[in-house]
Amino acid sequence: MARPTSWRSLSLTPAAQLRGLQDEQLARYVREELYPFSRHYRRVLDDAGVDPRRFGGVADLARLPFTTKQDLLRAQTTPENRYDFVLRPSPESIKQHWPFARKLALVLGGAGARETLRYRYTPNFLTFTTGRSSEPVGFTYTPHDLDVLSEAIARMFDVVGVTAHDERIVNLFPFAPHLAFWAVTLGGFKTGRLVVPSGGGKVMGTDGSLRLFDRLSPTAIVGTPGFTYHLLRRGNELGTSFQNVRTVVLGAEKTPPGLKDKMLECLRAGGAGKVKIVGTYGFTESRMAWAECPTEDNASSGYHLHPDLGVFEVIDPASGRVLPEGESGELVYSTISGHGTCVLRYRTGDLCVGGIRWSVCPHCGRTLPRIASELRRVSETHALNLTKIKGTLVDLAQMGQTLAEMREVEEWQVVISKRNDDPFEVDQLEVRVAARKGADGEKLASEIRTRLASATEVAPNQVCVLPLEELIKALGMETAMKEQRYVDRRPK
Ligand SMILES: [Zn+2]
Repeated sequence: MARPTSWRSLSLTPAAQLRGLQDEQLARYVREELYPFSRHYRRVLDDAGVDPRRFGGVADLARLPFTTKQDLLRAQTTPENRYDFVLRPSPESIKQHWPFARKLALVLGGAGARETLRYRYTPNFLTFTTGRSSEPVGFTYTPHDLDVLSEAIARMFDVVGVTAHDERIVNLFPFAPHLAFWAVTLGGFKTGRLVVPSGGGKVMGTDGSLRLFDRLSPTAIVGTPGFTYHLLRRGNELGTSFQNVRTVVLGAEKTPPGLKDKMLECLRAGGAGKVKIVGTYGFTESRMAWAECPTEDNASSGYHLHPDLGVFEVIDPASGRVLPEGESGELVYSTISGHGTCVLRYRTGDLCVGGIRWSVCPHCGRTLPRIASELRRVSETHALNLTKIKGTLVDLAQMGQTLAEMREVEEWQVVISKRNDDPFEVDQLEVRVAARKGADGEKLASEIRTRLASATEVAPNQVCVLPLEELIKALGMETAMKEQRYVDRRPK
């Protein structure tokens, strides 16, 4: 089968051929990389009785167990297992598992071949997960992986249409050993366009980032939905010009649909013309991200995947069964191009409504598979003990989305605590909002009660309408790595 030689040809390759390519690449990857060099997956394949030399492709993944965050955590916290997920070749494993031609090239290639080994397998970079619920998990990259990341994100910029020669990209993600900041910086460099990382609110401050806008007049903004909106709103207050902004790329968190309209209003007030606002999806364990292509009305078009770099399955989160194309379920990720820390059948905990589609994208004509845009965390449901007798399950994400979508709500925060701070008392749910200019606070509070009751079946004990500045501070917009949207003050 002829392999597509460029990103462009890959994104126009018929789906059947892309699937064939994935099968081939996954089989080779399991046989020549994962089984020989990953202690964890060698064990997994042996335990499942799967012969790596007979691993056929994507359909065979179902013969193997899933990898979970707990597996990664466990390995990381036991010194003798710390490198279980990292590909670590040895002369013996190469001798034993590589095909003759590859071994021969290594022997005959001398210093050049040894340099290739270093490039592919020696970690030179590390990021961490941002999870609040558990210890951060480290993910190592080798030079090869950094090149894959740069390539994947450069493709993402192509998908979102940041392709003109005069693009000036501002990266608002905070400086940290997290995927988002480095992905946009490295991928931005790879596009050959001007990239300026401002570090978001925490480093230069919102006003500092806006001064950068005065100097640079950016064409593209990349950041989290919450901070980007905050920046645009502040820009309106300071009279910042957004006249050259053509694209806003949002990531790291889910974007509620109502927020895009609010952003467009700010952009227009700052003199912008037509602006595309697109979402992205990515996670530490994949060491890459995917983007939606732009649409006329900024409706979501689904995340366009890189089928040559990784494989997604959609499973029933309860039974673990692999679901057919287009069905809703949990996303499971396997790398087929990674070195350093590698995962196979990793359960993302993200539920995808509408699953994955392999049909040609009606917006851009690319043949790449797409993840449907509506994602929700499996773990976002929290138990609240509201009645003292029986706990109620509350989907906090749904609550946040309901608040963010309301036009009259400028900012919001949800606080859970114990009544009177007494650990034996019932839980209290407080919703704090800042109202839009000119909105009637009392009317807003009562509308919030009604909407939350119908969306989540839980009525807050209290709805507080606060001044915007106070809420911005409480959210940590200028001080925290991530806005504090949900604050759980209950004793652990
Ligand atoms: Zn498209």
